[in-house]
Amino acid sequence: MELFSQKVKPSELQKGDHVYTWRKSMYTHHGIFVGEGKLIHMVNPKADGILHFSTASKSWISSGGRKKEKTPCATSDCGLEKVAGNGVRVTCIECFIKKGSLYRFKYEASREFLVAKLRGGTCTTARSDPPEEVIHTATYLLENGYIEYDLINNNCEDFALYCKTGLWSKDIGYQGRSSQANMVHSTKRENKDLGLRKDVVKVAVEELSSFRLSLSL
Ligand SMILES: [Zn+2]
Repeated sequence: MELFSQKVKPSELQKGDHVYTWRKSMYTHHGIFVGEGKLIHMVNPKADGILHFSTASKSWISSGGRKKEKTPCATSDCGLEKVAGNGVRVTCIECFIKKGSLYRFKYEASREFLVAKLRGGTCTTARSDPPEEVIHTATYLLENGYIEYDLINNNCEDFALYCKTGLWSKDIGYQGRSSQANMVHSTKRENKDLGLRKDVVKVAVEELSSFRLSLSL
């Protein structure tokens, strides 16, 4: 079983890839590769860093933050956020990776693969949409805005998962689709995998706002 084969070089990336990088060996940050050396990803606009669930300390930890941020990188558009405060931004590969490595999130993983993975947030049994659709969704959310960042219900992994699959939960009380959310829900990861959940439906990005509104009515 190819458990450790998810590491990729930036040159190997393909448009529409969902990638992640480990930060401080404790948590992952996720994004969608859209070509031309850029990724679209979601950050916590309040912390402006990455706030993640640490499996090591079993708590949320934050890194970065606007004040600590170094001078912006020279790559055009790097760090650009089209809807202010939205948290969805474009970043160059180098700034996304920082000092870590890049890994490709695996789709259509087998249940065996899913269970064998020691840490969540690296694979799903769900199927990925075609690359052009993935890029369309990510770009649409960058340009038109997205929903508020939420550690449990809408973090960077949820954003990438939605871009890749278009799957959204009908269950208003349980929106978080990422493994990090599932750690908080503390149930067996296997049952909570996006590809195995029964409460998720395909929602086109143009329909997302009205769909969410219909849930809350
Ligand atoms: Zn950059």
